[in-house]
Amino acid sequence: MNITIDPPPVASALSFVQRSTSSAWATYLSQIDRVTPYLGKLAPLAETLRRPKRALIVDVPIERDDGSFAHFEGYRVQHSLSRGPGKGGVRFHPNVSLEEVMALAGWMTIKNAAINLPFGGAKGGVRIEPRLYSKKELERVTRRYTSEIGVIIGPQQDIAAPDVNTDAQVMAWMMDTYDMNTGLASTGVVTGKPIHLGGSLGRKKATGRGVFVMGCETMRRLGMPLEGARVAVQGFGNVGSVAAELFAAAGAKVVAVQDVDATVFNASGLDVVALAADARAQGEIAGFSGGEAITREAFWEVGCDVLIPAAMEGAIDAARAKKIAARLILEGANGPTLPEADDVFAARGIVVVPDVLCNAGGVTVSYFEWVQDFASFFWTEEQINARLAKIILDALDHVWRKAEELKLPLRTAAFVVACERVLIAHVERGLYP
Ligand code: NAD
Repeated sequence: MNITIDPPPVASALSFVQRSTSSAWATYLSQIDRVTPYLGKLAPLAETLRRPKRALIVDVPIERDDGSFAHFEGYRVQHSLSRGPGKGGVRFHPNVSLEEVMALAGWMTIKNAAINLPFGGAKGGVRIEPRLYSKKELERVTRRYTSEIGVIIGPQQDIAAPDVNTDAQVMAWMMDTYDMNTGLASTGVVTGKPIHLGGSLGRKKATGRGVFVMGCETMRRLGMPLEGARVAVQGFGNVGSVAAELFAAAGAKVVAVQDVDATVFNASGLDVVALAADARAQGEIAGFSGGEAITREAFWEVGCDVLIPAAMEGAIDAARAKKIAARLILEGANGPTLPEADDVFAARGIVVVPDVLCNAGGVTVSYFEWVQDFASFFWTEEQINARLAKIILDALDHVWRKAEELKLPLRTAAFVVACERVLIAHVERGLYP
């Protein structure tokens, strides 16, 4: 099958086919390039995965507490809606850009398909350093952003969730704004809400729990003992802190933790509960007395068995991949490993459980929340945790067998499984008009 692109693509800041070499979108496109030879008859259709279905850029103006005005740029990208409504988080961060949100939306398409959830892929973000704004200002940013993207979101269209620097409170503001604008009571427009606004038990910790569940199963398959395993964690927010606490509670030793400002190390194992309490109280891990402060780069050379990158994309390049001592990488973050680092890990026999599987616990419980909201019938935390483990471990097993069959790393195997599902849905729908 020949696909004609007419006129030929021209790189520009606003072109979907732009390929800047160092962006998350370039990483995503490279991952699609790597999977395409394994897609058989579906391969020519992979072009559809290289283009988000829809991208919205919005101006988010607010009045500041001092009476001045500020403008922020916001985005919502729906990468694919072939398998269901869009689903993906909203990020507040100074590095948010159209390309970053495109990549994060693309990874949501792959993740939701790899786990077999009935969602497409979407993501949103506002380019802002939230630490510089008051809670009231962040509420105004959230409400205006939600109003601006309101034309394309909804419980049956596109459902938001927390991501970096957003939380249950931000989701409550988003839901309330959507409801005020539509006159509906649409709990299903966001997930990760507060429990008494239709949120789900277990959602807050679901991503970190998923990393832990996937990690335990992979260690079992690799014959790595959990008791005493040395774990290093980059990013100590919602994902990293929960994963670290669960590993420590299960008998592993969390030897190093890094956040945006500091890195702490203790060869005998950090007291993760105390570290989390400090981080909650101060908003950072710097100054923690139960460990030694080390340099940011030294983090990557720490003696460890398991490494959990749970901060931002692009953290591990080839140079860092060569230094990392771990035998297993559990990707809590989205897109933390660059393609050339994947090659280094493969050559060194280091197993990477990719983001699209490893951090899928969050979207899986978001799916449960969405289902519970529609049914207005809520499950117990035990039911949620059991169903979470079953769904993600079934997905891991399926991808693991695909990786063995095709002799591929887990990431490419997960992309094979996911891309096949997305492209089959695409074919079955047919091309409109
Ligand atoms: P968060 O805002 O709760 O925490 C982010 C953490 O990363 C903080 O500790 C911050 O200090 C640290 N950090 C930021 N930049 C850093 C840097 N350059 N170096 C070291 N540390 C840095 O965010 P989160 O929700 O935990 O998300 C972390 C990652 O997990 C992101 O890639 C996100 O997309 C992904 N993720 C989150 C969820 C979710 O449910 N929250 C689900 C799936 C994937």
